[in-house]
Amino acid sequence: RIVYVNGGYRPYAQAAVHVEDRGFQFADAIYEVIEVRNGGLVDAPRHLARLARSLSELAIPAPMSESALRHVIHQVIRRNRVRDGIVYMQVSRGAGPRDFALPSPETPPTLVVLARTQRRGWAAELAETGISVKTTPDNRWARCDIKTVMLLPAVLAKDEARRAGAREAWFVDAAGNVTEGASSNAWIVASNGSLVTHPLDHHILPGVTRATVMDVAKGEGIKIEQRTFTREEVLKAREAFVTSATNIVMPVVKIDGAAIGDGRPGPLARQLRLRFHQVAEFSA
Ligand code: PMP
Repeated sequence: RIVYVNGGYRPYAQAAVHVEDRGFQFADAIYEVIEVRNGGLVDAPRHLARLARSLSELAIPAPMSESALRHVIHQVIRRNRVRDGIVYMQVSRGAGPRDFALPSPETPPTLVVLARTQRRGWAAELAETGISVKTTPDNRWARCDIKTVMLLPAVLAKDEARRAGAREAWFVDAAGNVTEGASSNAWIVASNGSLVTHPLDHHILPGVTRATVMDVAKGEGIKIEQRTFTREEVLKAREAFVTSATNIVMPVVKIDGAAIGDGRPGPLARQLRLRFHQVAEFSA
C-alpha cells in the first residue's frame, strides 16, 4: 500500500508523521472520508467544500490547492489500485514544539491521504437485515459541525454500543433529542410519512450523504422535516436509518433493544439507498 504523507508517496510501513505533530498532541486536525466507486469519487465537490470549511473554521492553512489535492487523491487511488472503497484524508496544523499557542502561520500543515479497498456490496448486504443502535448521552463539544479528529467520545460511544450488541451509537442531548450517530447522521420516517432529521447547527456534522439523500428525497417527492426528534418518537416511527459516506443509507431496526416499526428495514430507506448513486455527483 502507498500513502501520501509529508509531500510524497511512501510505502504504508514507512508512512509516518512527527511525534510532535499537533494532530497527535492536541487533536488539532480535521479529516474527510470519500467513497470510491468504480475508481471515481462520490460527491467530491461537497466533501472538498466541507474540508475547506473545517480548515477555515479552525484557521488551519490549506495544505495545497483543491486541484492539487484532487490530483493527490487520484494518485493514491490509482497507486493502490482501489476500485471500490474509501479515501481518507487528514490535515493537521503541523508539527512543532508542544505549545497550546498556535504556531506561526508559515508552519506547514500535515496532509495525509490514504485509500482502502472495501468490497462492493458489503453495505448493501448489511442493509438487507439493518443494524441496531444504542443511545448514549451526547458528551461531545459544541462545534460538532467541524469534522475534527477529536473523536474520543464517538470511539467510546461506539464501543459501548458494540458491547450492547449494537453497531452504531445515537447521541441524545440534554433535552432528550437524538442529535446524530457516532459516525453517521440519524433519520426517522415519522408516523405521518415524512423524513425527519436534526437541523443543521453546531450540534451535528453537516453530512454530505445527508445533503445528497435530501436531493434524492426531493426528486422522489418525499417530504422532509429538519427538526429534532426524541427517542420516544423513534419508538413510534415507521422506519429509521443512518447516513454516511461508507454506509450510504443503512436501515436501523432496533434502538436500545426495542424494535422500530415492524423490526425490519423499511421501504423508504430502501428506495433512498437504491436511488442514491443515480443522484450523487460522480467524478471519474
Ligand atoms: N456525523 C458524524 C459525527 C460523522 O462522523 C459522520 C461521518 N464521518 C457523519 C455524520 C456522516 O457524514 P458523511 O455523510 O459526510 O459521511
